[in-house]
Amino acid sequence: MKVTDHLEQADGPLISFEIIPPLRGGDLHGLLDLIEDLSRHEPPFIDITSHAAEVVYEETPDGIQRKIKRKRPGTLGVCALIQNKYGIDAVPHVLCQGFTRQETEDFLIELRYLGIDNVLAIRGDDSGYQKPLDHGRTRNRYASDLIAQIADMNRGNYLEDLLDADPANFCIGGAGYPEKHFEAPNLGADIRTVKQKVDSGADYVVTQMFFENQHFHRFVELCRAEGIEVPIIPGIKILTKKSHLRTIPRTFHCEIPTALADEVSQARKEDVLDIGVEWARAQSQELLDRGAPSVHFYIMQSSKAINSLLPKLKL
Ligand code: FAD
Repeated sequence: MKVTDHLEQADGPLISFEIIPPLRGGDLHGLLDLIEDLSRHEPPFIDITSHAAEVVYEETPDGIQRKIKRKRPGTLGVCALIQNKYGIDAVPHVLCQGFTRQETEDFLIELRYLGIDNVLAIRGDDSGYQKPLDHGRTRNRYASDLIAQIADMNRGNYLEDLLDADPANFCIGGAGYPEKHFEAPNLGADIRTVKQKVDSGADYVVTQMFFENQHFHRFVELCRAEGIEVPIIPGIKILTKKSHLRTIPRTFHCEIPTALADEVSQARKEDVLDIGVEWARAQSQELLDRGAPSVHFYIMQSSKAINSLLPKLKL
């Protein structure tokens, strides 16, 4: 079932999750335990991130060598597992970065055959490596180009002219940034790129994490003023470690409010998770009380914090 159908048919707010595939060579047990645990909360859908190949430098007996590595493959397999073993709709992330449009088309065909009809279309970040474009291969530059490719497939238009090609039927999500994307000159310009995504075929938007709800409310207001009418789902991350005070702003370019940062830095290490849970609970409650259709939690690899938060949320 499509994410947009879940949103339309729900008789209360929805809670969804986002997880990452294991590192290359990692076993599946940890992931199975995580999905099993998350499935108790009956999420309508679970997102699985996608990871492009990247350039790494390794010391070898012959000196430092530049290598191309894809650290977390497995998005497709994890999606198949979630969809078919647990009966939960899987939302694989599909990237521009690191893939040609031809590979993307192949990936989407695999998804169709697995009965997966949701995707989140994302540009990805520059990993230092781009697929060579020989033999007429092409790549998508921005998420809106990728969304247009998927929407084209939904109309039965594949990259080459195919006789009687079967139209796909993907529900397409795109990303939004309440504090603006770090490369955008300003929030207004970034919101116009969200409009471009919707005009290209995005059916809904999921936001980057934020720790201050005012950012989300202002973002939604500006999107509506720009004529963006699709559902906008807030993305929430539970801060669980002191090191998050450094790594979250650096990686995700979002601000941690002074009150939260002060409380976490003064707390004992073992109390940080509870502080993060209470902050995220209050944020989620306020979002739902103000009519957010759903809250999407960035779980990544551990369900401990979400298991503590959800029983305290009035749904
Ligand atoms: P885009 O929408 O293409 O935007 C990128 C930048 O280009 C923005 O600054 C935008 O304003 C600008 N821009 C867009 N279109 C144009 C245009 N036509 N002309 C000029 N400028 C333009 N990363 C992963 O590697 N794997 C994941 O699974 C993943 N999942 C994510 C899920 C969510 C919900 C979010 C919010 C992010 C996720 N990311 C993921 C991170 C994402 O890849 C980065 O934030 C990336 O830098 C931008 O992706 P985007 O799809 O927003 O890009």
